Parts: sequence; C-alpha cells; structure tokens
Amino acid sequence: MLVKIGIPRALLYYHYFPLWECFWGHLGLEVITSPPTDKSVLDRGVIAAAPETCLPVKVYYGHVLALAKAVDYLFVPRIISAQKGTYICPKFMGLPNMIKHSGYDLPPLISPTLDTNRGKKSWQRAHIQAAQGLGYNKKKALTAWRYANYRLRLYREKLQQKRTPLEFLNHDHSLPRSFTSPTILLLGHPYNLFDEFTNMNLIRQLYQYGYQIITPEMLSPVIIEREATQLPKHLFWSLGRTILGTAFHCLKNSPVVGVIHLTSFGCGPDSLVGELLERRVNKLSNLPFLLLTLDEHTGEGGLITRLEAFLDMIEWRRSS
Ligand code: SF4
Repeated sequence: MLVKIGIPRALLYYHYFPLWECFWGHLGLEVITSPPTDKSVLDRGVIAAAPETCLPVKVYYGHVLALAKAVDYLFVPRIISAQKGTYICPKFMGLPNMIKHSGYDLPPLISPTLDTNRGKKSWQRAHIQAAQGLGYNKKKALTAWRYANYRLRLYREKLQQKRTPLEFLNHDHSLPRSFTSPTILLLGHPYNLFDEFTNMNLIRQLYQYGYQIITPEMLSPVIIEREATQLPKHLFWSLGRTILGTAFHCLKNSPVVGVIHLTSFGCGPDSLVGELLERRVNKLSNLPFLLLTLDEHTGEGGLITRLEAFLDMIEWRRSS
C-alpha cells in the first residue's frame, strides 16, 4: 500500500500545490488533499486554534484535522521566505509548532524550513532533505524536485492567462466568466481570494454580476516586483508587496473600474498594507474602493449588500 501524505487545502496551497503534489507523487507517495472548506472544517478549526488567530490559520487547523485520520504524514512546511529580501507572515513560520502542539492526535509532520534568504537553492535543499528523511535517495528526490518545479512553472503560466487557481485546483470550469466585461482589481492573499467558502463565492458572484477580475496571480512576478520597488521604503512582507505591486501596475496600465481588497480580521500585515493601498488608490485614481474583512462570523447577506452598493457606485461612475 502506498504511503499517504496529506496536504491541507489552505494558506499557500493555492500557490504551491502543483509543486508539492508533483514532488511527493513523483517519489511514489499518495498525495491526499483535504476537501474544500465547509462549515464543519471551519468550525473544527475555530475550536482548535487560539481565539486571537486570524481566520486563514483557523481554517488551516480545520483542514489539518480533516486529514488527520486519513494519512500517514502531514505536510506542514515552515515557510519563512519565498523571495530574497522578503518574509512571509510570522504565522507561517510558527505553523508547524502550532499544529504539533495543538493537543490533537496527529500523524507525524513533515516540516521542511523553506527560506529563500538562506540561498537560491534552499527550497530545493529542504525538500530533498525532507524526502531523504523518509528514506528516499538524493538522486531520486532531485529528479522529483525538477519535475515539480516544471509543474509549478506551467501552473503559474496558466494563471497568467487570466485564470484562477479554482479552475486548476478545484477542477471547476463552471465559472461564468467573460474576457470582455469591465474589470475589477481583486486584491488579497491567495487563501482569502480562492477559498470559496470563507469568501462566500466572491469571484463567482462578480462574474455573475457581469464583471471580470484581475488578481495578483494573473501578473508576472517580475512586473509586480518592479512596481513594488517604487515604495518609498522596502516592504518586507512578501504577500503585501505582491498586493501593492499589483495595484500600482494595474492602476496605471489596466482599465479597471473598481478595486476590492479582501482581508482577514486579525491580520497584522494587512492592517498596514490596506492603509497604503487605499491611499494609493485614492491618489492615482477616483475608482470605487471596497475593503471586505472576513472572519468566521461574516454573513453572506452583509457581504452581498456591500458588494451591490460597490457595484452600483461603479456603474454610476461609469455612466456619469
Ligand atoms: S498574513 Fe495575515 S491572514 Fe495571512 S497568515 Fe498572516 S496574519 Fe493571517
């Protein structure tokens, strides 16, 4: 029987799942993902996580618990940096410790430390060492890593063709999108943008109201980084840099009709980035701006009311 490794469908799953699926799958493990977030996943996560934790980390706990009985290992990497000179939020760094000491009966964690600031090949090294820890030889792990990187590159290229991870990770081709509709710039961390349960199908709703979207995943990282360097001070948070770089580029170069910033209640980095973003949107444009903050109590009715008011404002500006 194949050894099963579980990958929670949360946090940076939306950025790296093709890499991890291919890497572990190529080594011969069976990769199991948790089901899409639903009420039971969220409720379990809310109970398991510390109350002051942000919503995406609570959701992560729920996904870990959904996998716990079904796999031999859980893949919970300690992500410190994915881009030189920047850092992911500290919650990602502490995630393996938080999960390990959650008090639940969990399978062993595989937690390589992924930190680009330790050298260009540090992600490769950490994955190979993790595979060696499970008994795979270095050569086989290196081959798996190369395949996995290729898969990740293909995935990112597809996203840059104005597609969303929902199409590739959830195999959802039912999104009623159109490339000729007016475009809304939809900004946020990938786990906020693409978890359809916690954001109450925001992307689907925008498509249904007759808009298309641009998200950071649809732009080349080179363009985003070039724009982000225009900030007067170096911003260390990579997810925040991505949001701001995307906004700077799109406000100057794309015919967007409105901007939505989707954040999580309790997110420290977003409280800073959101402020910078809103100021820059106001400075560079007179576009309607909507800040949507999610937590486990957010109701769909309230979200739709705010969304409809925002879309009315867009139509009013467009017609005046
Ligand atoms: S960046 Fe914000 S939302 Fe994401 S894990 Fe950190 S605190 Fe939570």
